[in-house]
Amino acid sequence: MKKEGQIRVDSENLFPIIKKWLYSDKDIFLREIVANACDAVKKYQSLCSIGEAENDNVKPRIDVILDKDAKTLTVSDNGIGMTEDEVEKYITQIAFSGAQEFLEKYKDKADSDSGIIGHFGLGFYSAYMVSDSVEIETLSYKKDSAPVHWVSDGSHTYEISDGSRTEKGTTVILNISEDGKEFLDEYKIREVLRKYCHFMPYEIYFSSASDNKKDDTEEKPVNNTSPLWLKAPKDCTTEEYEDFYRETFTDINMPLFWIHLNVDYPFRLKGILYFPKQTDKLQVMPGEIKLFSNQVYIADNIKEVVPEFLMLLKGVIDCPDLPLNVSRSFLQNDGEVAKISKHITKKVADKLTSVFKNERKDYESYWDDISPFIKFGCIKDEKFYERIKDIILYKSINGEFKTFDELPKQAENKVYYVSSTDVQAQYIKMFKDNDLDAIILEHNIDTHFVSFLEYKENGTKFVRIDSEIGDALKSDKSDGDESSETADSELVNLFKEALGIEKLEIKAEALKTVDTPAIITINEYERRMNDINRIYGNMFGDASRAKETLIINTDNAVVKKITSIDEEKRKLLCRHIYDLAVISQRKLTAEELDGFVSRSVKVMEMI
Ligand code: ADP
Repeated sequence: MKKEGQIRVDSENLFPIIKKWLYSDKDIFLREIVANACDAVKKYQSLCSIGEAENDNVKPRIDVILDKDAKTLTVSDNGIGMTEDEVEKYITQIAFSGAQEFLEKYKDKADSDSGIIGHFGLGFYSAYMVSDSVEIETLSYKKDSAPVHWVSDGSHTYEISDGSRTEKGTTVILNISEDGKEFLDEYKIREVLRKYCHFMPYEIYFSSASDNKKDDTEEKPVNNTSPLWLKAPKDCTTEEYEDFYRETFTDINMPLFWIHLNVDYPFRLKGILYFPKQTDKLQVMPGEIKLFSNQVYIADNIKEVVPEFLMLLKGVIDCPDLPLNVSRSFLQNDGEVAKISKHITKKVADKLTSVFKNERKDYESYWDDISPFIKFGCIKDEKFYERIKDIILYKSINGEFKTFDELPKQAENKVYYVSSTDVQAQYIKMFKDNDLDAIILEHNIDTHFVSFLEYKENGTKFVRIDSEIGDALKSDKSDGDESSETADSELVNLFKEALGIEKLEIKAEALKTVDTPAIITINEYERRMNDINRIYGNMFGDASRAKETLIINTDNAVVKKITSIDEEKRKLLCRHIYDLAVISQRKLTAEELDGFVSRSVKVMEMI
């Protein structure tokens, strides 16, 4: 028997167009073909379980075989198989009509979105992205069916003839084209199988025709058919969670803790989210959330399903209600998908709260690692902030962890913070010497988080330790009488003249730290703008330097003497006091350092 047929598609150019559309992500053809094979096995098993098919008790399996010499890639399963009528119907008609629908819907769209393939039943035809022709050898599980052979080169015709399969199931043979020749490489196939088929539910075996080692090594499937996320959380051990993490993500560090999601209603969702250890202290490291549908890999980091801030985590999410190939536009318009995202956020907040309540010491020890993620989450999703705001910790310069309500607040609800314990070490010392407290906010994200908190927690003001420090360190007796006020303005004028820095504001105040002759403070608001500007690479044009103020400590012994020494020495000392204040606040430039060193020598000569 041999039969030729016409594929009823109006467009002359279906395949060239499909090929072009899908060009960007060729790899997925293998997922489509292997996922079809898994479906075929599953269908057979379901029929057996309801007594519709007789169980042959053969272990389900899928074989992927590469033959470089013959230039073929073959995917074979022992699933349900197809009768001739079914091949006609499912492969020739339905799949093609899916292709046609696809084409009609998307012909006017300029950007290609490979995600739409499966949605339109185009899965099987994705094989033509890499094949000159595709053959099917199939035998249905149904009694007395005959094996069928189908072949089409992707033009308008196909051919059906007697097939050669003796066992039920389907073999799809791809005659790899010049365009697809990268798939004649064993390593390439292994890589694609690992990416897309690693957790598929039936054993997949890969072999290369030139593989001579077959006899002496035990055959092993390339996939893990029962990934941990499917197991009941109560039955999973720490070791299993860690092994699974290692198997799935490339990370030399172990995760801090994890959340096992297991939802049945109102949608089905299973998954594990891991909180990774942060390797960079300043930057937020991107995470990796792998999305699956019934153990078939869809894609990484689909932000419509997983809230953006959760992308900093590493994890797997299996949501069988999602179509295998999700299109972005479908997801954006789907209310269910938004629910999934909200639910995941809630679960994450619940877990964090439970760790905070029940394992506070551990929570504190994880804090540095998880805080960028939490803060990013708060900024991105205010609902998340509302859920977890009471468990956000703030590390103080005295090494204690505080919640927002426990924060050391000064007059006018001011909270002092440090953005670098190294650079601001002198200020920290002054604070500590005077029994003042401040919190440490060293991460890049803190620049934004501080502004976010001010907006959410009305009335609270965050000021960096080197801005307005004067207020905190002002000694009680500094509000002096009139005579000291004239003395102060005299001092200020002396410094103004000696330094000659126009933009610098100079003040005289009695500070609690008598040992310190002067300090520099920087306008909080302007400095923050500069920080943000720096992070975003001068997005807002060139920023001017934030306004600096020099506060001269009228209680300091050297400052007290300064009015009574001769002019030359006075200038020298004023400049020196200024430099010392600058050093405590930032690194000197090469030029400034040069001046500082030579002046230091002169100051010593004065003794
Ligand atoms: P989809 O999988 O989205 O339905 P495909 O184009 O991938 O679309 O496949 C079309 C149909 O062909 C499938 O629905 C199935 O009925 C049939 N089919 C494909 N591959 C196999 C297979 N290995 N075994 C049995 N039937 C198959």
